[in-house]
Amino acid sequence: MAEPKKIIAVLAGDGIGPEVMKAAREVADAAEKVFGLQMEWREALVGGAAIDARGSALPEETIEVCRSAKAVLFGSVGGPKWESLPPQEQPERAALLPLRKIFGLYANLRPAVLYPELVGCSPLRVERVVGGFDLLVVRELTGGLYFGKPKETTKTPKGERAVDTMVYETYEIERVAEVAFRAAAFRKKRVTLADKANVLETSLLWRKVVKQVALKHPQIALDFIYADNAAMQLVREPSRFDVLLCENLFGDMLSDEAAAVAGSLGMLPSASLGEGSFGLYEPAGGSAPDIAGKGVANPIAQILSLALMFEMSLGQPEVARAIRSAVAGAITDGWRTGDIAAKGEKSVGTGEMGKEIARRVASQGKKV
Ligand code: NAD
Repeated sequence: MAEPKKIIAVLAGDGIGPEVMKAAREVADAAEKVFGLQMEWREALVGGAAIDARGSALPEETIEVCRSAKAVLFGSVGGPKWESLPPQEQPERAALLPLRKIFGLYANLRPAVLYPELVGCSPLRVERVVGGFDLLVVRELTGGLYFGKPKETTKTPKGERAVDTMVYETYEIERVAEVAFRAAAFRKKRVTLADKANVLETSLLWRKVVKQVALKHPQIALDFIYADNAAMQLVREPSRFDVLLCENLFGDMLSDEAAAVAGSLGMLPSASLGEGSFGLYEPAGGSAPDIAGKGVANPIAQILSLALMFEMSLGQPEVARAIRSAVAGAITDGWRTGDIAAKGEKSVGTGEMGKEIARRVASQGKKV
């Protein structure tokens, strides 16, 4: 009997989302042919596009498509057109946050990779990033200061008083630490926990629980760094990190810093994972309204999000490897979109870059 098709929800969204998604789909088509995959791609509206068509950033039918799928390939949402809406109706808040909640996506994986050929794209001095780097930030996504209660502003005789609460329970730390250790097993086998154990109770609990999780992974080295020092080391010597594990707030900041030193947002994918193999995969950047509709966006972040999806939700690391190797080959051979082109270097558009990477995936099949 034929294997059932693997259903993927495709939520292209707004701005450059549909442009880079089209390129990623071409790469996916090539991979499907080469590897003989049985896939079904179900498109659904999200973000501003969904507000315009259905009056909600995350319509019920979109949630249903996601529920039917093994994974969600997400583009990006938001843009100036919807910025005047009340905050709770804005596309990012009304689409992405509920999706994370509905599917219990508690671990955010943000690889930050600088290819040796692109060291000139990094804002860091070349000697600090010579040879490039490849690190992975694993951020806890559903706990800590952003969600802890009490969270309120009250009037006082002298003015106002605002409080946010950083709170973590053992299980929340355990499950995201597991993700970090499992990821490290396929990398350079080192997890670094960034915390503030010198001042925060929650950080002491993080250290205790992460040490316990480490006992189950004796092949992975574990070390600790204060989050402020991690911020410094990311700009001094990013290559010293392999997997950088963080609670929500530190991860929010350090993952953006890691992305910045890697050069272009157009190159960086991300994954949000929950229990089981379900995940949501999206570029680290947003809808880039400044370049939307011009056909110049870099599709590589979306294409590498596709690779992550094959690896983490579909259990097909060989497909992920083929896609990553096609991307690396295109970079080595000088293919550049505007965001990663050096001064005077020729650049191609979104469609051409996507087609070149798809061609390389297809030709890898011929070599097998
Ligand atoms: P942004 O990430 O969209 O853009 C920042 C800069 O990076 C821009 O100059 C943009 O041109 C560039 N950039 C991003 N992706 C690129 C790519 N693939 N190729 C080339 N250049 C690229 O951030 P922003 O300008 O702060 O936000 C724009 C909109 O996106 C806002 O409405 C924001 O709410 C939304 N946003 C959505 C998400 C998401 O969907 N997950 C994430 C962040 C921001």
